[in-house]
Amino acid sequence: MAKALYGLTLVELQEIALSVGLKKFAGAQIADWLYSKNVESIDGMTNLSLKAREALKEGYEVGRTAPAEVLTSKDGTRKMLYRYGREGGKEIAVETAYIPDGYGERNTLCVSSQAGCKMSCEFCMTGRQGFGGNLTAGEILNQMASTEGHEDLTNIVYMGMGEPMDNLVEVLKSIEIMTSKWGYAWSPRRITVSTIGIPERVKTFLDSCEAHIAISLHSPRSEERVNIMPVEKAYPIEETIDLLRGYDWEGQRRLTFEYTMFDGVNDSRSHADALLALVKGLHCRVNLIGFNAIPDSRLKGTSLRKMAEFRDYLCNKGLTATIRQSKGSDIEAACGMLSTKRKQVEGQ
Ligand code: SF4
Repeated sequence: MAKALYGLTLVELQEIALSVGLKKFAGAQIADWLYSKNVESIDGMTNLSLKAREALKEGYEVGRTAPAEVLTSKDGTRKMLYRYGREGGKEIAVETAYIPDGYGERNTLCVSSQAGCKMSCEFCMTGRQGFGGNLTAGEILNQMASTEGHEDLTNIVYMGMGEPMDNLVEVLKSIEIMTSKWGYAWSPRRITVSTIGIPERVKTFLDSCEAHIAISLHSPRSEERVNIMPVEKAYPIEETIDLLRGYDWEGQRRLTFEYTMFDGVNDSRSHADALLALVKGLHCRVNLIGFNAIPDSRLKGTSLRKMAEFRDYLCNKGLTATIRQSKGSDIEAACGMLSTKRKQVEGQ
């Protein structure tokens, strides 16, 4: 089976160039074709000699994958399904959401880093489907490069399926390719990675790149967070917060806490006070997110009026808080709704 060139770093492409008898600088030419010129076949790399292209084709292919399915929401959000091959003819499926703001100013792509997820958060459809496998850096980036209108993307968020810190090597590699001059040359300030908070991985992430980070908090109290996020047991949120206090958030790098609001679960005044106490002294913002009901769940979303009161209370106490309306719920592309469980069964 030919190996994919797409998703490899410059150093890896240089090694491949040498291994097939080309000069080292051919690695930079290949990177240029892959990431600047968006070429989809080795034949398209026309500044490599025919002989060089034939040599490459003996073991490699570009390795890009078009979406198998695209759904469009009435609010303009699009959901793409990607099927990626695995050994023995198996495949894994992931979903990606393209979210335009409707004003032509901000077009965000929400990418997946894993097929399914191991973390079992109660409010998340991806968590319910279990874990299907890690994506490679190329499979993460392919979601971006194969999206129609990708040239107009302004932001990428790693908030789709999976826990990015549980596939950190490939996530960091994808960010390296996104932000390197030989790659897509994006500013890391256009990239946000979301995590439930695994302290040693978060540390590696913060020390290895400059992308923004968003912590999925959802409850300020450990004894309650554990009920909706089992990971709290192994990685108490206080440990992640202590780690975050060791970094500078006053500059351009942004720290956000994601807080999905559940009626009667985490939306009281005392929860707001506990949240203020937890993040006290940290330069950060809080995104309050409306909950999209998922089947057979005890959880219900907090009303918009109550969310606004919660936000105003936090803001009056000096914390930057905003309400983020999830888009694409009619095509199950909104926060917490991505799931390929059915697609996985259909596709096998
Ligand atoms: S919310 Fe994120 S970490 Fe939790 S189960 Fe869903 S995908 Fe996994």
